[in-house]
Amino acid sequence: MRNETAITETGMKDVHVERVKLYINGEFVETSSKETFENTNPFTNEVINTVSSGQEEDINKAVAAAKEAFEGSWGKMKVKNRMEYINRIAGLIDKDIEEIAFLESMDTGLPISQTKKMTARAAENFRFYARLVQTKLHGESYPVDDEFINYTLYKPLGPVGLITPWNAPFMLETWKVAPALATGNTVILKPAELSPLTADKLAKIIHKAGLPDGVFNVVHGFGESAGAALVAHPDVKAISFTGETTTGATIIRNSADTLKKTSMELGGKSPLIVFDDANFDQALDAAVWGIFSFNGERCTANSRVFLHKNIKDRFVKALKERVVNIKIGDPMDPSTQLGPLIEKNHFNKVKRYIEIAKEEGCEVVQGTVLEEVKEGNFVPPTLLLNATNDMKVCQDEIFGPVMAVIEFETEEEVISLANDTRYGLAGYVWTNDIKRAHRVAQAVEAGMLWINAQNVRDLRIPFGGTKDSGIGREGGHYAIFEFYTEPKVIHVAIGNHHIPQFGK
Ligand code: NAD
Repeated sequence: MRNETAITETGMKDVHVERVKLYINGEFVETSSKETFENTNPFTNEVINTVSSGQEEDINKAVAAAKEAFEGSWGKMKVKNRMEYINRIAGLIDKDIEEIAFLESMDTGLPISQTKKMTARAAENFRFYARLVQTKLHGESYPVDDEFINYTLYKPLGPVGLITPWNAPFMLETWKVAPALATGNTVILKPAELSPLTADKLAKIIHKAGLPDGVFNVVHGFGESAGAALVAHPDVKAISFTGETTTGATIIRNSADTLKKTSMELGGKSPLIVFDDANFDQALDAAVWGIFSFNGERCTANSRVFLHKNIKDRFVKALKERVVNIKIGDPMDPSTQLGPLIEKNHFNKVKRYIEIAKEEGCEVVQGTVLEEVKEGNFVPPTLLLNATNDMKVCQDEIFGPVMAVIEFETEEEVISLANDTRYGLAGYVWTNDIKRAHRVAQAVEAGMLWINAQNVRDLRIPFGGTKDSGIGREGGHYAIFEFYTEPKVIHVAIGNHHIPQFGK
């Protein structure tokens, strides 16, 4: 067991992984219950460290601190000064990109070449929201002849709860923390129990940036204890959640008693459609990257690939060549393209789905996991050939490096198949027929569509899904106007207007 010692073997000589504590009211503290849990490395399945397991009492302390900070200096701070803090956080992330990426890869098994890019994006999340809030977060005025001028202000909500998953932890946490703080709220973050390391690092960075005590708090722990207590707390004004659809439904139910605003970024089973006139090589690159990057643990992954019958055989042949060549290995190796899955339970779940695919009649083609990395939770890149959309493996979110390949013949047919799912997060259309590209993109039931492109993100767009993939949108001005603030209207009489004179 490698517990709370210096990690030296991979080149990050100075990184120490110690017990992760809670961060409440500007201090790193143990949970009141003294309970801890072990955090495991998916590559070795050895324990990395232990983590304080937050309970209701810890949530209560964090919320009290966040409330006080909101009513105190943070709530009264000038926007310019608040943005200095936000930009300072971005700068500190940039300085520690190597260390953050290392911690993230150790904790999640994501390849280091990918966690470095995600960390850079995390810094940009803060800069982006600093710019946006400073320049765009203003109200409107509604003049009414020469009688009234009514105007709106966008006010922060107060303490907000942010609950995040393990699949891209640091990037997704900052995607919520940045707009929440930039708009003037205070935060209680409940990170996923399977990936606590970079949330702890974020607390250290924010501590170093000198934010007033209580503005940002992290309570580690399990969903059923720490998460549920956060959702139920009456002083928490909103919950922004990213995770599984079933968890989202539980959170909505549990937040009803305290009438919380919620934002739900949930699961997906996104289609990628390749017509026979598409740019073959680019569509192939995008299809492979879109499911096998981030170890396939990607909400917007193209887990269902629909191929036109005229190109199917050629495309499948090329896919087979690719999957056996994808480099599987140590997440810390810069050349690794696919790392181990987050934990044994998830690994077993994904493996079980591959067995189900065989039972359902798919031909399964996979890369090979070398003997020397067999300790890790490796599922090789997997193709499920001859799949049909009604199969369980085409309906359930597997959340691993598993691509189902489905043949189609007509535009109408593929739209209907793409939409025959409970999910509606993302979709990808590949064709050089401009009219068809737009027609299909508009007809696919999903929050986000890409035409002839891989999942390139534009931070300004509304991010989120429809159907069982979510409720509400974050990203761009949607986060700052529609979620982390609420409009307040002031009606001002500037002339004479009629007032009924009851009882005069
Ligand atoms: P999960 O739902 O198991 O857990 C997410 C978080 O919710 C964790 O922090 C967990 O502790 C917490 N939680 C669990 N039960 C809770 C409860 N009762 N009350 C409060 N909090 C609770 O999800 P996961 O396995 O960590 O993440 C994978 C899922 O996330 C996939 O379905 C994936 O598609 C989805 N995801 C969606 C997006 C998106 O933007 N739509 C992005 C990334 C991941």
